[in-house]
Amino acid sequence: MEWERIRKQPEDHVGANLQDYEEYASRFAWSQARALLDGLPNGGINIAFEAVDRHVLAGRGDRLAMRWIGRGDQVRDFSYRALGAQINRFANILAQRGVAKGDRVFSLLGRVPELYVAALGTLKNASVFSPLFSAFGPDPIKARMTIGNAKVLVTSEAFYRRKIEPWRKELASLEYVFLTECSTGLPADTIDLSAALAQASDSFETVWTGPEDMALLHFTSGTTGRPKGVVHVHEAVVAHHITGRLALDLRPDDIFWCTADPGWVTGTSYGIISPLTNGATMIVDQAEFDAERWYRILQDQNVTVWYTAPTAIRMLMKVGAEITRRFDLSKVRYMASVGEPLNPEAVAWSAATFGKPFHDNWWQTETGGIMISNYPSMDVKPGSMGRPLPGIKVGIVERFERGELREITKPMAMGELALRPGWPSMMRAYLNEEERYRKCFAGGWYLTGDLAMRDSEGYYWFVGRADDVIKSAGHLIGPFEVESTLMEHPAVAEAGVIGIPDPTAGEMVKAYVALRNGFEASDALRKELLGHARQRLGPAVAPKDIAFRQNLPKTRSGKIMRRLLKARELGLPEGDISTLESEER
Ligand code: ATP
Ligand code: MG
Repeated sequence: MEWERIRKQPEDHVGANLQDYEEYASRFAWSQARALLDGLPNGGINIAFEAVDRHVLAGRGDRLAMRWIGRGDQVRDFSYRALGAQINRFANILAQRGVAKGDRVFSLLGRVPELYVAALGTLKNASVFSPLFSAFGPDPIKARMTIGNAKVLVTSEAFYRRKIEPWRKELASLEYVFLTECSTGLPADTIDLSAALAQASDSFETVWTGPEDMALLHFTSGTTGRPKGVVHVHEAVVAHHITGRLALDLRPDDIFWCTADPGWVTGTSYGIISPLTNGATMIVDQAEFDAERWYRILQDQNVTVWYTAPTAIRMLMKVGAEITRRFDLSKVRYMASVGEPLNPEAVAWSAATFGKPFHDNWWQTETGGIMISNYPSMDVKPGSMGRPLPGIKVGIVERFERGELREITKPMAMGELALRPGWPSMMRAYLNEEERYRKCFAGGWYLTGDLAMRDSEGYYWFVGRADDVIKSAGHLIGPFEVESTLMEHPAVAEAGVIGIPDPTAGEMVKAYVALRNGFEASDALRKELLGHARQRLGPAVAPKDIAFRQNLPKTRSGKIMRRLLKARELGLPEGDISTLESEER
């Protein structure tokens, strides 16, 4: 089905940071983006300084930096000055203990204020911050902290007792454990974080960091296999800042809500750093997804820019549009999505429901920031990821034997999505995995592992992960297209599509479908869905079989794990499932 292009009118982008894409992109240079920040003396740059101190020094210290909303609706506000003071205290408690530049500080926390303070305090002390998702069990935590050579951990007492204490002695590098939510009987060899913060001074001079000093260690989502430890440096803040400005249209008076957890790169790049460098107010909600709660937050907090993910959008769609009418969402100016392909159905639904579409954008842990995006002033083509960020050169390439690469310029030809390295937030390494890192580069390109197409207007279209593409009877089939078609059917809430071996066709397309509320799995519905897909996609591409599932296996960051659908279908080992979300939901 052809989706109608969503045309932008001048009134849709009054005051937007990016008014004329072509013109801006043609004269963009990274040095201009760097000049928007202050830097440290002697060419230094530090993420925490740019996020907070810069604003305080410029007289903007009273502005609200963070509004934290607790699970029970309690609210804590932090001005830039107050947040800065807490960050300084945290930096001091590290420095007092000899935790120095380059030392690794891990966090295992829910979305509590201490997480944000620890992240920025660590960076201000020139140490390296690595956030772990709090729902991880002991094994994935231990594996990541071991790879990362953790020296410090910040966690809650309850998490510590359950997830760390049993193996702590096995990680010799781990010297200091700071605990939140402490009971009276503090476990041995741990430090009460709030007591330590209270005793520390609230002034601290940023430890000098150069552009290439390591700042962040992020683990990938593990969608395609064993998670990688991605290294980012302080210069990345140049990209965090400008991409937030251009792709999310962040402005100093914005109230911005990024729903991602800082345990994943989105929740750090855009859930901590970018809103603060841009001087906005960020909303942090401690609670998990709940449609009504989310709409209430958007309304009551006057959120102007909202950044979320397809999995959440699909859950909102599942609940239906009716509920949105009970809320005044008129303050929301801009909505964006990342993490997985955003089905055209979801874009059209949002445009109909909210009067404005979700703007898809694409990036990876490795790229550190948004690389391809839709913008306020540019028409949206539902199903497209948009166009490259100014300063980013994107190519569609074909790999040949002997590692040769060729760029494909023909419109809508499928190939691997590749980027010319050199932007500030490009990963600098996969920690301790030199070979895996090296394999990402060839012919002057960084190879993303995703397949895509570019149309004649320069919009990019996601096809699928290279690993997920299905080869059936001489056709290359991207799962995204098939999934999106199934989602057009009113019964379908979610779909995951894989190829399974077939003696004649090579591979056969099989779909797994979760139904919307009010629909029952049946043979009749299976036939109807198969018919719908065949009619839309033709027999060569349409699934030959559909299985109904209550839920599809997903990573904790909300991505459908097609490799797991496949392993289970074929009775193969499940591989690394450390990031698999529990499947009861
Ligand atoms: P792993 O690398 O461990 O398998 P992962 O690739 O899911 O996990 P992330 O770095 O969190 O880890 O995710 C980046 C990937 O997510 C991209 O390479 C792409 O496949 C997918 N993705 C992100 N945004 C989009 C988007 N807008 N459209 C389509 N796919 C997207
Ligand atoms: Mg990846």
